[in-house]
Amino acid sequence: MTSPYPHLLEPITIGDLTLRNRAVMGSMHTGLEDFFWDIPKLAKYFADRASGGVGLIITGGYAPNKRGWLKPFASEMTNRLQAQRHQQITGEVHEAGGAIAMQILHAGRYGYTPFSVSASSIKAPINPFKPTALSTKGVEQTVNDFARAAGLAQKAGYDAVEIMGSEGYLINQFLAERTNQRDDIWGGTSARRMRFPIEIVRRTRETVGAGFPIIYRLSLLDLVEGGQTWDEVMELALLIEDAGATVINTGIGWHEARVPTIITQVPRGAWAWTTARLRKEMAIPVCASNRINTPELADRLIAEGTADLVSMARPLLADPEFINKAAAERADEINTCIACNQACLDHVFKNKLASCLVNPRACHETEIVLTPSRRKREIAVVGAGPAGLSAAVSLAEAGNKVTLFEKNPHLGGQFRLAMAIPGKEEFAETLRYFTRRLEVLGVDVRLGTTADVTTVAGFDEVVISTGVEPRVPSIPGIEHPKAVLYSEVLDGSVVPGKKVAVIGAGGIGVDVSVFLTHDPSETLEDWLAHWGVGDPDLHRGGLTDHKDREPVREVTLVQRKTGMIGAGLGKTSGWAHRAVLKQSAVTQISGATYDLIDDAGLHLTVNGQPQVLDVDHVVICAGQESVRGLYNELVAAGRPVTVIGGADVAAELDAKRAIEQGVRLAATV
Ligand code: NAP
Ligand code: SF4
Repeated sequence: MTSPYPHLLEPITIGDLTLRNRAVMGSMHTGLEDFFWDIPKLAKYFADRASGGVGLIITGGYAPNKRGWLKPFASEMTNRLQAQRHQQITGEVHEAGGAIAMQILHAGRYGYTPFSVSASSIKAPINPFKPTALSTKGVEQTVNDFARAAGLAQKAGYDAVEIMGSEGYLINQFLAERTNQRDDIWGGTSARRMRFPIEIVRRTRETVGAGFPIIYRLSLLDLVEGGQTWDEVMELALLIEDAGATVINTGIGWHEARVPTIITQVPRGAWAWTTARLRKEMAIPVCASNRINTPELADRLIAEGTADLVSMARPLLADPEFINKAAAERADEINTCIACNQACLDHVFKNKLASCLVNPRACHETEIVLTPSRRKREIAVVGAGPAGLSAAVSLAEAGNKVTLFEKNPHLGGQFRLAMAIPGKEEFAETLRYFTRRLEVLGVDVRLGTTADVTTVAGFDEVVISTGVEPRVPSIPGIEHPKAVLYSEVLDGSVVPGKKVAVIGAGGIGVDVSVFLTHDPSETLEDWLAHWGVGDPDLHRGGLTDHKDREPVREVTLVQRKTGMIGAGLGKTSGWAHRAVLKQSAVTQISGATYDLIDDAGLHLTVNGQPQVLDVDHVVICAGQESVRGLYNELVAAGRPVTVIGGADVAAELDAKRAIEQGVRLAATV
């Protein structure tokens, strides 16, 4: 049989290690790394990915010393007992046929601790703690600590180590003028700033011996002012190769950069051009990363010579079986990462255990287990939005006979609206995944069927996932033809005029404003220009002046609250959504009272001053109400029934909770 993705699935040898394919599960902190009692969970999490076929797994970051902690008592690899405990992880991964590298990460000034250190004592804009500058001796010791951590990782049974030299952590802080203002042998000129990572790689090589793979994660584009020039990046890459690195993995942007690098609105493969430029100059293999989430794209990047390996962290969180499915020509069954960050990075930044919006079992593998039901129950699921799709698929996976009723002629509910938003097109992949899984599992799908009490009469259990309907606020003139619902705009049944007011600035109001202003002809080059990303050969750190968007409509986004618009959006993506509103010249009004909608437009009062927005349409994004008619009837009739998703709680309507409720329900039925 010919391989469907011959380049991605081709083995590669790095040092003494032969990987069964070129797919790497990139490093990602989950929160399971920090305490030894979570090691069994972490081992299971990685072993599932190893059984799923990925070539190499890279762990979340482990600090080489306490000063390198990401937060108090965070993960570290500093002694033999820790190395011994890690043997459970490496053992289970090896048993599952995989290979695993441990990442060594010193947080530097990103450490959320009062005793963090850096090259110089300069506070990071994203951390309240100001670091202490390492002494010259302290730098020497830190270099040794990196090498020692690598040696311990080797003893723990890891197949390789990755040295984290990107994303703005300590090594980057030594490399850039922005953060390294030292005047000893570790600072001053670019050659001296480079000395820190070169020494780390050199001493690590001395410690681990000749064939043990050392992966160095290199910051290709810093995307911050005072970052490295392209010449410096290239020079460093070659020196790192000489110092003994086996593979160069690539990183884009410091955490403090104000350019989105991995969220959904970043076009797929947006950074591959930088990797291709580096690879041309290197003798050792190069790994591409960031916004690569399909086997097609990964295979193409290798085929085109952009990279030798492809790193996908979140896509493997979303689907542990990613590679097996790709290899078995079942790529249409891959649960694709939609780059939302909602359950992974947003959780980590809030000190919560990471998981995945589309795969709530991620990092909960030992807790959420879909065991086959002893008796095959007949279950009706009513409503095929995110919650209903998740419940139907999970209940069927647990061995139940499921019938899914949907009143519309298509599946998807709120997914269909979400995927219309520019930069959220990836939701279409989630819908494709569920649709395919329903087919594979043989779920009886009844589209265009409004279920009532009689329809569901013969079932053992009924799950109500009838979702939500948009809230219609009682504003005078709400029945005027200028007033339209966000659902009508996003499903294309209403095409708003050139001047639009948006009422309600929650997640959907912000999304609708982006939808209304977005120019659909935007290319990758335009996207990079809007975010001020320039040719790194010409601009230090790859950063230049940004080019404003040319909005296709004039939009005013209004809320009653007095605070900042979009304040409740996700931690890792909210700032980027707010920046797009600014780039698109969306006028923002807070603290408004809605007085009237009429032929003249939207009448408001702001700070006691009445005003009229002369608009063609007023789009209502004022939240949602649960649709619970059938649920209430079934409860009244004493029928066993469970309600999930937006029908359960409309406030905080969110695909993450909806999908998780569906999966957890199947794990308990
Ligand atoms: P939402 O976040 O609850 O926002 C609706 C907004 O409408 C409220 O913030 C409120 O703001 C306003 N509102 C509520 N009742 C009103 C009334 N009677 N009259 C006028 N205005 C009223 O709801 P959403 O925007 O529909 O989003 C729903 C959920 O989807 C969110 O909770 C979020 O979880 C998810 N979502 C998230 C994102 C994202 O993070 N990027 C994107 C889309 C959706 P004021 O009272 O201040 O006017
Ligand atoms: Fe991807 Fe979102 Fe899952 Fe994170 S939560 S892995 S970004 S789908």
